[in-house]
Amino acid sequence: MNKTILVTGGAGFIGSHLCEKLLEMGEHVICMDNLFTGRMENILELQKNPNFAFINHDVTEEIHLDKRVDQIYNLACPASPIHYQYDAIKTIKTNFLGALHALGVAKKDHARILQASTSEVYGNPMVHPQSEEYWGNVNPIGVRSCYDEGKRAAETLCFDYHRMLGVDIRVIRIFNTYGPRMCINDGRVVSNFIVQALRGEPITIYGDGSQTRSFCFVTDLVNGMIQVMNHEEEGFTGPVNIGTQQEISMIELAGKVIKLSGSKSEIVYRELPQDDPVRRKPCLDYLKSIVPWDELIPVDRGLETTIEYFRKVLGS
Ligand code: NAD
Ligand code: UDP
Repeated sequence: MNKTILVTGGAGFIGSHLCEKLLEMGEHVICMDNLFTGRMENILELQKNPNFAFINHDVTEEIHLDKRVDQIYNLACPASPIHYQYDAIKTIKTNFLGALHALGVAKKDHARILQASTSEVYGNPMVHPQSEEYWGNVNPIGVRSCYDEGKRAAETLCFDYHRMLGVDIRVIRIFNTYGPRMCINDGRVVSNFIVQALRGEPITIYGDGSQTRSFCFVTDLVNGMIQVMNHEEEGFTGPVNIGTQQEISMIELAGKVIKLSGSKSEIVYRELPQDDPVRRKPCLDYLKSIVPWDELIPVDRGLETTIEYFRKVLGS
């Protein structure tokens, strides 16, 4: 039987790929978004599908749906530092109230809910790689806190709804993800470097570029999310890390982007933002114990696809 699935943040970068995949699987998708960082063009093709519905709604307001849903993916929240710091109060409200309202729907409909949490719950980690048992090293009052602490509070809410009310939850901690449909101006490193390289502008490395991140291509992430959502095991909730162990420094990333795009851009160094994590790589043992996680898209190939996407976007 086909499921009816609510995807909050469904017009965004990851959300639009998720909606697309769920429709391919024959599911009915309700995409809810206030288009803060999401775009209608991300879901333009999907709107031709009769199993797809779009609702323009801000998740800080209560969610009332005409239809009962079977599953909820709660993704609504700006993910790039520029966007989530633009209105920090709104960001923490989106994280907390958005999760509260989505959990309310899950409770009412007896639906399973997957919360898109983040590696940012580990803050600037003191252990490496980061496993789910690690509680993190997060600054509660810094410029990233609206996002990091918002996501941590959302995880807390999920587990309290699970313990107190029996809501069926899945919490995933997503590590850095990239690919087509990232916003051209969202300031995240992959989109920044590619757009700069294609325009022949200087590539801006923050700090000395030795900080690392582990990058996952968006289609791999979406496949993993769906498998975790549908993992049937008594008592399974997560949290579970999701991403890759393809850890590279920002200098290495800049080199790859320049090479793969054939750019002549030079590298320039800019001030490191406050609380910028030094190293980030997930421990994936738990994920691998529940889903097949071997055949992942290598960074070079994913970057090529993403460069092609941005070439088209800039060309038009
Ligand atoms: P994105 O900014 O492209 O997507 C977020 C979507 O949420 C957008 O469509 C936006 O319009 C919508 N949104 C924001 N506030 C809203 C509100 N109040 N009401 C309704 N909709 C709202 O970001 P993304 O990269 O696609 O991230 C999706 C989710 O995954 C986020 O929750 C993010 O925290 C999480 N995540 C992403 C990454 C990553 O590397 N991309 C890493 C960790 C976690
Ligand atoms: N970064 C950079 N140049 C840029 C944008 C980002 O060197 O033009 C760095 C940033 O300081 C961080 C890393 O790239 O160390 C990843 O940044 P992003 O915003 O993509 O993700 P996050 O910091 O949330 O992991």
